[in-house]
Amino acid sequence: MTVKTTTHILGYPRFGSQRELKLAQEKYWRGEISQAELKEVGSLLRHRHWGEQSGAGLDVVTVGDFAWYDHVLGTSMLLGHLPKRHRSGFPDLDTLFRVARGKAPTGCACAASDMTKWFNTNYHYIVPEFSADDEFNVSWPQLFEEIAEAKQAGHKVKPVLLGPVSYLWLGKEKEQGFDRLSLLPRLLAAYQQILTKLANLGIDWVQIDEPVLALELPKKWRNSFKIAYQVLHGAPKLLLTTYFDSITHHLDMITGLKVDGLHVDVSAAPEQLEEVVQHLPEGWVLSAGVVNGRNVWRADLSALLERLQPIKALLGDRLWLASSCSLLHSPMDLDLETELKPEVRQWLAFAKQKCRELTLLAQAMDGNEIAIEECARYSAPIKARATSTLVNNEQVRQRSEAITDALAERKLPYQERARIQRQSLGLPLLPTTTIGSFPQTNEIRTQRRDFKAGRLNEQAYVNAMQGHIDDAIERQNKLGLDVLVHGEAERNDMVEYFAEQLEGFAATRFGWVQSYGSRCVKPAVIVSDIYRAKPMTVSWAHYAQSLTEKPVKGMLTGPVTILGWTFPREDLSREAIANQIALALRDEVADLQEKGIKIIQIDEPAIREGMPLKASQWQAYLDWAVKAFKISAASAEPKTQIHTHMCYSEFNDMIESVAALDADVITIETSRSDMELLKAFEAFDYPNEIGPGVYDIHSPNIPTVEQIVELVEKAEAKIPAKRLWINPDCGLKTRSWEETEAALTNLVEAAKLLRQQY
Ligand code: GLN
Ligand code: ZN
Repeated sequence: MTVKTTTHILGYPRFGSQRELKLAQEKYWRGEISQAELKEVGSLLRHRHWGEQSGAGLDVVTVGDFAWYDHVLGTSMLLGHLPKRHRSGFPDLDTLFRVARGKAPTGCACAASDMTKWFNTNYHYIVPEFSADDEFNVSWPQLFEEIAEAKQAGHKVKPVLLGPVSYLWLGKEKEQGFDRLSLLPRLLAAYQQILTKLANLGIDWVQIDEPVLALELPKKWRNSFKIAYQVLHGAPKLLLTTYFDSITHHLDMITGLKVDGLHVDVSAAPEQLEEVVQHLPEGWVLSAGVVNGRNVWRADLSALLERLQPIKALLGDRLWLASSCSLLHSPMDLDLETELKPEVRQWLAFAKQKCRELTLLAQAMDGNEIAIEECARYSAPIKARATSTLVNNEQVRQRSEAITDALAERKLPYQERARIQRQSLGLPLLPTTTIGSFPQTNEIRTQRRDFKAGRLNEQAYVNAMQGHIDDAIERQNKLGLDVLVHGEAERNDMVEYFAEQLEGFAATRFGWVQSYGSRCVKPAVIVSDIYRAKPMTVSWAHYAQSLTEKPVKGMLTGPVTILGWTFPREDLSREAIANQIALALRDEVADLQEKGIKIIQIDEPAIREGMPLKASQWQAYLDWAVKAFKISAASAEPKTQIHTHMCYSEFNDMIESVAALDADVITIETSRSDMELLKAFEAFDYPNEIGPGVYDIHSPNIPTVEQIVELVEKAEAKIPAKRLWINPDCGLKTRSWEETEAALTNLVEAAKLLRQQY
């Protein structure tokens, strides 16, 4: 007789398929609904989401994944551990919002905590702040209340907790000379209290997330696991949960821990499964994360069935099936996507469908004949996709295969290009420019929306956009900027625009994924081989250039960024996809140049964040990422100046690769770091030109001439003036024209003063 296979997920999206939580939160922040009404929306969504999990047939529902802003901040609240400046009175929901956003409907305004990326996803968490005298007092009852709520609704509950070592790792010290790991004993006492409470609530298993196990950890951090789980061992049982990459490099240590089970991500690192099975300690449960929690593809259930059968034979009921990671990173419900082409739709599965995949697979594993057949039927489209002509384009493949190292190289080295460009462009010392986008006014947004909805015909739309270009060029000329931009009025988003223009992408209607707080993004899906059927930006750039004598920059988004901010296909490597995009962009660069565009910017803000989790894999990634960028840029003749732009990035450990991009000019976000980020460029003797941002576009403050002069002087101490540009930190699309013009007036004025100085 076969034993029943247990199924669960690591977490569910929080927002609701219509982004109900986002809308309610924002209304609450604006004072339009009460806290009670906001809480009501949260409760409604939790019930709906638990209902969907048990409706799909999962054995337990996951509780503790719901968060009002972010689950790391939720953990800080649970632990009674908030930044010092926010510790007044008993913490409530407004305390949480104040830590996240600096303000809330009640209480004082106080600096928000930092936010940073959650591993290699596009989700951002609130960074815990640690000081030597920090204490942890389990106070915030949200988790316990939600468990009671789910139980009352008749669900079998498995709570999730962010584990203590990961919690410490993800935070940062607020004081010098203190090591946050020294707080572990105190922190563990609080976790013990939480676990005891959970045991008293009748909880059998707890999912304790330690995603840092996917990283290559320093020794003391690695060793801290032993102490931590020695202390936490007992009732309830602990499922040590890892995701986003393999953990076999820590397997010796992990198998020595006092836990009751292990979850591994079989989707991100398929090859680790067999090794983990082989070393699984006696009595441990193995939760196999087989359904990808962070992409949109239908699982090949028959293939999984075949692969997992022998493991089931070995482990029996100790094998559980799960999503690879929390479904937080997956859109909510494919059923809503009525406008996707049917052939594309049958390749996809969103959070709700992924739950059903798990239970179907489990039934098949348990020998249910109907389920086995259903698995085969369900997997047929995704299997057929492998050879579908809809997906695989022979020409694209051939062109990709023909890529050589030489294809990625410009015809002349930078020094010679620079000489030619200096002559042909005739720019002054310290040229002034902007990063690309200008204010996206309501008028612009409405016109784009009307065009999409068919309320505005193509000619009227083109006229409207050209009107915005006229306006942008006129303003820039008046301001006296040296290198102009067309302003990007036609772009809602720097990736979405190209996803719509290129072949190979599909857009969803409701495929929202939480990025941070109430912010969601709706990445396009790369469904097939990518190519450019027609020029994408040439007519806008050409029109803008026709209006002025000054050079107008062509404006493209780079291959690594387009890849990084979409759902990639899984049957091709990221490198291969990036190369396809690069070839398409390469043709765009050639066309822009042909139409008289002398400067082309290829934005790559996502290069840094695409770094693999394991430091030992960084270089291999950077090598192909750099090459993809260079392939797109290298159709430029020596006289065409290639710019790139990166937002706030840690450049120290990748400066060599930044230099290897061989962009003639790079603009970076530096004003908030007071030009400190230029140290990496100075130390490396970075050879090409740099435009370190001289004012923070995220702030409404207008930089003064003196402030800009001072920043450029700091930059000049590190990089010679003849290789410096003057520009803002990033695009100006979120600012108003009033702020933009005031800031740029000062920027141009500062450049004039500085030119007399050097
Ligand atoms: N060209 C883009 C803009 O100005 C760059 C945006 C970015 O770096 N995120 O909006
Ligand atoms: Zn930027």
